[in-house]
Amino acid sequence: MNTPNQTHFGFEQIDEADKAARVAGVFDSVFPRYDLMNDLMSGGLHRLWKAFAIARSGVREGARVLDVAGGTGDLARAFARRVGKNGQVWLTDINNAMLTYGRDRLVNKGCLLPVAQCDAERLPFPDACFDCVTVSFGLRNMTHKDQALGEMFRVLRPGGRLLALEFSRVWKPLAPLYDFYAFKIIPRVGQLIASDEASYRYLAESIHVHPDQETLAAMLRQAGFENVDYFNLTLGVVALHRGFKY
Ligand code: SAM
Repeated sequence: MNTPNQTHFGFEQIDEADKAARVAGVFDSVFPRYDLMNDLMSGGLHRLWKAFAIARSGVREGARVLDVAGGTGDLARAFARRVGKNGQVWLTDINNAMLTYGRDRLVNKGCLLPVAQCDAERLPFPDACFDCVTVSFGLRNMTHKDQALGEMFRVLRPGGRLLALEFSRVWKPLAPLYDFYAFKIIPRVGQLIASDEASYRYLAESIHVHPDQETLAAMLRQAGFENVDYFNLTLGVVALHRGFKY
């Protein structure tokens, strides 16, 4: 009998087939406090990281943008302002709770966007139909990152670009302090604010096992992207990877 392929869920080794459900459990639990926790855990820095990604996107009026794993819609909303009436921004996510929360949040702000619940590993869009694809803090939760990157490449039109914002490998001298914060403080704040220590421990662990800057850049190239580069933000706490389809 074949043993099922293994993958990591934080520091745990699990069957690949179980990962999506475990990740869904995390976001089903955290969605009501997701935005508040983002601000608390990052001290508001996630807003600057996202603003940096938008500034590097090259997205102009009339562009078509796909936000993969878009969650509560921060990037989608900012892009909607940029593309104007002649453009289009899709907010997508695999998780119904996150997506519904995000959609309602945007509607309350007067921002109506097309929304699709879908797995990044099987995007329900035709080839070559977007000018820009973004994935922000979503990639590390995906089981087959290579497949998801391949799908993002497929739906981009020639000349289009991918922006992947994700936690990465922090500057080494800062690592002990960062690990203390990630493993000791964040789960406690998660317990205090969201009554969910386990999900926030997963967050810290999933950051630790996510590919570093160079490895992720190589994965983008492997998926077909060219002119791949990355920007370290806040000493590598986060990195923005950029790749082009020609
Ligand atoms: N992009 C948002 C942001 O930057 O605030 C949300 C990021 S949140 C940390 C990660 C999101 O990835 C969750 O909403 C989760 O449901 C989504 N996700 C995880 N696996 C996914 C997959 N295979 N396909 C699409 N979305 C996925």
